[in-house]
Amino acid sequence: MITTDITKAVQSLLNDEIIAVPTETVYGLAGNAYSESAIKKIFKLKNRPLYNPLIVHIKSTSFLPEVAREIPEIAFKLADTFWPGPLTLILKRQAHIPNLITAGQETVAVRVPNHPVISALLSQLDFPLAAPSANPFGSISPTSAAHVFNYFEDELGVILEGGVCERGIESTIIGFEDEQPVLYRHGSIAVEEIEQVVGKVVVNIHNDNKPSSPGMLSRHYAPMTQTYLTTDVLGLLESFGDKKVGLLLFQDKLVTDSDTLQVVLSEVGDLQEAAKKLYAALHYLDESHLDVIIAERFPNEGLGKTVNDRLERATKRK
Ligand code: AMP
Ligand code: MG
Repeated sequence: MITTDITKAVQSLLNDEIIAVPTETVYGLAGNAYSESAIKKIFKLKNRPLYNPLIVHIKSTSFLPEVAREIPEIAFKLADTFWPGPLTLILKRQAHIPNLITAGQETVAVRVPNHPVISALLSQLDFPLAAPSANPFGSISPTSAAHVFNYFEDELGVILEGGVCERGIESTIIGFEDEQPVLYRHGSIAVEEIEQVVGKVVVNIHNDNKPSSPGMLSRHYAPMTQTYLTTDVLGLLESFGDKKVGLLLFQDKLVTDSDTLQVVLSEVGDLQEAAKKLYAALHYLDESHLDVIIAERFPNEGLGKTVNDRLERATKRK
């Protein structure tokens, strides 16, 4: 059920149960990172393949050495700049981090989230929280408690209410190769912002379905409705004739004589606002009994790259 009862959430976590928690990115499905049984429940409820590792959420940077070792100086620089916030760092793991969390890899993904509800929760726990997004594997990520409830209903005893997620899109993931920063996933922090702190960042984003590229499966974040991504929305719309089409647009409505459903993500052309509203718009369009959703390709800069990445994965054929 949806609740604001942090005490009940703490109790559930102490009992190795899993709960849904708000973060500034998306809602997470959280469990005690040191409890194998809790972590197993996360994978089972999400129907998530075991090769797809989880992000560990810690209270503050001072807890970083508890989960990671041989931390490069540049990682601390990024942590100091962006934590608490939507930046995940891939670092060498401490040996006590369960294999299930890292999918057997020698690295662990870690971040300090920036949302008062998960911060209040972490402050009452003496363990970190492993938490992937609170959606069935491959489906659209949840950015409100209602989205989580719609997916899992009574399978979750506690869904903590935390309003609409401020960022609305997953964290940016940075790893290190020979101490050089490497981008593994576009996210809520634009790569340009990271480059202002650490200089050039190599982009190493996989788009295949191999387990060696966990979490970056090409089809992900996907609506049930057939969805297309294009720079020519009007042309594609015309090609669908009488079909019931919904449009997902960045800034401007399309002038058409049909009664096509149109969702504009930011009338003022603000990429941050558009990113925040993206998943809610996809949920809404997906529930609107359409034959087809057409999404407009975003400008390929800043958070536009992140939105395009999610839309590309949302529109991949099975
Ligand atoms: P989610 O929480 O659903 O956004 O998924 C977390 C994502 O973090 C995974 O899908 C991976 O892409 C990434 N991740 C977690 N741990 C690692 C790791 N050790 N190495 C590389 N990527 C990781
Ligand atoms: Mg996810």
